[in-house]
Formats: sequence, structure tokens, C-alpha cells
Amino acid sequence: MRRKLVVGNWKMHGSKAFIAELLGKVPRVALPAGADFAVCPPFVYLSWVEQLLAGSVIGLGAQNVALATQGAFTGEVAASMLRDCGCRYVIVGHSERRSLFGESNADVAGKTAMVLEQGLVPIVCVGESLAEREADATLGVIGAQLGAVMEVLKDCDWSPMVVAYEPVWAIGTGQTATPEQAQVVHAFIRERLAAVDANVAAGTRILYGGSVKADNAAALFAQPDIDGGLVGGASLNAEEFTAICDAAG
Ligand code: PEP
Repeated sequence: MRRKLVVGNWKMHGSKAFIAELLGKVPRVALPAGADFAVCPPFVYLSWVEQLLAGSVIGLGAQNVALATQGAFTGEVAASMLRDCGCRYVIVGHSERRSLFGESNADVAGKTAMVLEQGLVPIVCVGESLAEREADATLGVIGAQLGAVMEVLKDCDWSPMVVAYEPVWAIGTGQTATPEQAQVVHAFIRERLAAVDANVAAGTRILYGGSVKADNAAALFAQPDIDGGLVGGASLNAEEFTAICDAAG
């Protein structure tokens, strides 16, 4: 009942020439009909990528959003502007935003609410560091990250929200959580969401992210609570990304 979703997070990579070549090699229409797909380019390329994706089944997403609706916030981009540029999805609270730019759980919760208010789909990232996993603190960390978001959302319609479980130790390292390790955390996330609203939680898509590749995607996506992937490095390679999308079918 949950459609799988595969999202490519291009991070701060690419150029017009690179993007045109990449999207020229990814099938625009011939992807599994039962799943959804999106790419998240850097802000400056959003409108242009929207044009390149016209007629394609691949949707558009942003990698971040401002914690304000408008005003004197130099360098920031509001959720309404992302909607204006054709975005449907917005990644919120990626671990790089948390660790390199100091985003707190409260910031992530506020941004998630901003995205939902604009009728967009927030992809809320949660995940533990290696030290936290080794200290057996994984579920506590995820619970706190998610709890802050749900505290802000509990009285509004959060049904469009997507959660991405991204263990920090697996992002960009080539080290993937095993399908079983990931499933434990995904089931925990769904249980936490169900404590707020069981019906909504049953339909909430929970993506796995962390070195998803063509050769591990199918095994990850076969887990009962893994509803697709948030893909970094492999989304910059047309063959890899297409194979990951196909694994979601
Ligand atoms: C990410 O950036 O969200 C990510 C999961 O990266 P990678 O796939 O490269 O580990």
C-alpha cells in the first residue's frame, strides 16, 4: 500500500553540463510505474532542472529550506520559493546540515512544519553517529530526533511527511547498514509515528540512506518497513541511479 520512493541527493555536485549529461542518460518515463522518483539538485539549478524534467516521471526536490517564510535572511530560500520553482520534495535535517551547519532538532522540526505548510513533502532525515551506535544509543538518538519533529507536528496534518533513516556512519563511506540492521530502526520509527497516529504511520514512507548502490538496493527495499532510498553518491551516476530506481519496482 505504500509506494516506494527513490530520491537522489546531488549535494553540492555538478554543473549545467554534468546535469544535462546525467539526466540525458536516466530514463525519463521508463521507470517502474508503482514507485515515485525525485532528484534534489543544488538550489541554483532547480528551475532549470524543472525544465529538463518536463514530461518525466522524476519529480524535483530541494536539499534544504529556510526556517522563515520571508524577510532579511541573506542567502536563505523559503519553502514558498521552492514550491514556486516546481519542487515537490524538500530534504530537511540531513546529517550534513546538522553536523556542518549546526541544525538542531528544533530547527529541523520548524523547517518540517514550514515545508508542510506550503503543501510540499518534507523528507526528514534522522540517524545516529558511529559512536552513538557503538554506545548502544541508536534508538535513543533517533527517538529524540523524531520526537522533536512530532512534538511540533502532532496537531497538524503530517501525512505527506517522509522520514529517511540515514546512519551517519554509512553516508558516503561505502559502508551500508545491513538490511536487518536498517529494518530494526525503520520498525522503531514506524512504531514511534504510530504512537502519534497509527493510521498515518501505516502509510508513512520511511526511506533508507547510506551508501545505497545498485547491488544492495533490492535487498534493502525488500525489508517490510523500508519504503525506498535517499541516495547520495550513486545518484550522480546514471546507470547506478537507474538500477536503484528499477529495484524499487
Ligand atoms: C545522502 O547524502 O543522503 C547519502 C545517503 O549519501 P550516500 O548515498 O553517498 O551515502
